[in-house]
Amino acid sequence: MRHLYWFRNDLRLNDNPGLLAHAGADRLLLVYLWPRNRPWCNVTGMGEQRERFLVENVRSLRQGLLRLGQDLLVLHGSPEVVIPELVRDYRVDRVGASRAPGYYERRTVELLRRRLPVPLDLHDTGTLFDEESLPFGSGALPAHFTPFREQVEALPVAAPVPRPDVLPRPPAAPFNDVPESTTRPHTALPIRGGSVPGNRRLRQFVFEDQGIARYKTTRNCLDGLAGSSTLSPWLANGSLSAREVAAAIRRFERRHERNESTRWLYFELLWREFFQWRALQDDRSLFRAGGGARRLRRCTFEPRSFTRWCAGDTDYPIVNAVMRQLTATGWASNRGRQIASSCLVNELQLDWRYGAAFFEKHLIDYDVASNYGNWQYIAGVGADPRGGRHFDLDKQAREHDPDGTFTRKWDGDRPPQPVHVTDAADWPIVDP
Ligand SMILES: Cc1cc2nc3c(=O)[nH]c(=O)nc-3n(C[C@H](O)[C@H](O)[C@H](O)COP(=O)(O)OP(=O)(O)OC[C@H]3O[C@@H](n4cnc5c(N)ncnc54)[C@H](O)[C@@H]3O)c2cc1C
Repeated sequence: MRHLYWFRNDLRLNDNPGLLAHAGADRLLLVYLWPRNRPWCNVTGMGEQRERFLVENVRSLRQGLLRLGQDLLVLHGSPEVVIPELVRDYRVDRVGASRAPGYYERRTVELLRRRLPVPLDLHDTGTLFDEESLPFGSGALPAHFTPFREQVEALPVAAPVPRPDVLPRPPAAPFNDVPESTTRPHTALPIRGGSVPGNRRLRQFVFEDQGIARYKTTRNCLDGLAGSSTLSPWLANGSLSAREVAAAIRRFERRHERNESTRWLYFELLWREFFQWRALQDDRSLFRAGGGARRLRRCTFEPRSFTRWCAGDTDYPIVNAVMRQLTATGWASNRGRQIASSCLVNELQLDWRYGAAFFEKHLIDYDVASNYGNWQYIAGVGADPRGGRHFDLDKQAREHDPDGTFTRKWDGDRPPQPVHVTDAADWPIVDP
């Protein structure tokens, strides 16, 4: 039997039930397709840091496969076109891939399934639980996080599955090296993609620095690697699995201590889990301005405000600092994301989807479910029982950047700008 396994957001050998399910084939063709970034909300392409981190993940996966006598065929193109061609050319009998929660990703899989002359197996590789172990059917997921957490908190998480010791040989295919990215990590967040750096960070945060033991008090820190785990980039690309992180938390609790902080870190994994299952249920409404309830809020599109927000050039220094951190490093803390998104929604009164699209372009931890789910939450059209969040930006700056170090580091204090640069007839206003 000849199988084809299509890697998606599960770029790892460890704890990969999808890959393992195809490890018994006689021949195995392993494939990765570069994501196609559709232009959306005035945003095109992929930010340099996000692309760099992804390239590093793919290169690292390929290195791991080469050590097992395998290889990775890395191609461009639409999955529903490329994969059926590969199936035909390499006489493949069965195809496997991981399940992805996003609407467009699922639509691609459905198109692919229709065009494939062979069976397509989907595997849960990105969540803590699989669908059968959830206490509610997929159509009856709680609308809010708290009832979700209460029902899943005590559920056992399956132990990570081991990496395969051997893999079937690949068919003779035109395997190619994946060129290195020319972008370097920013010095403020010197992290690289791949399972080895991801596992190293997990070990460092949990066991070496024991940051997990005080996480509840440090998690709002605005800098990467300083207070929260900063594991999201590897989790989002799948070079680290949520079950591996959950297993490390449990190990720490057994060997050292279980406290409010260790529990809180697990809660955050449950937030991630909640958004993964919500995205599946929300379907296309994850991208609607009014969300699933079609709760429309007053907003506008003012191109200058959006451009200033993207460039970190607004009248709010703390927001500017977060936006500059985001575009330079590809990451911002949860607190920083809340501050920047609240500003776009409430102060600038823009359509939240423009902000989400800009985050999608730049975040090295971009994940469709977490990104759009959190944006909907802040905008009050998603899973927030309070109907949205409006952060007081001055208060946030006083609490989380009391001496202005973060704002200065990212050059957040920008020169004042006129409120209007064009008149009512759209002519530029020129100072006499
Ligand atoms: C507007 C907005 C957009 C966001 N977009 C994304 C995104 O595209 N990808 C993404 O992974 N996270 C996103 N988040 C959630 C959160 O900000 C990041 O997961 C977190 O900042 C990552 O840093 P960390 O790994 O240090 O998190 P920690 O605080 O150490 O948490 C541990 C892990 O729990 C998960 N987690 C924590 N908070 C959340 C949350 N609110 N929602 C979902 N999962 C969470 C992450 O996987 C994280 O790595 C977004 C939040 C907001 C407000």
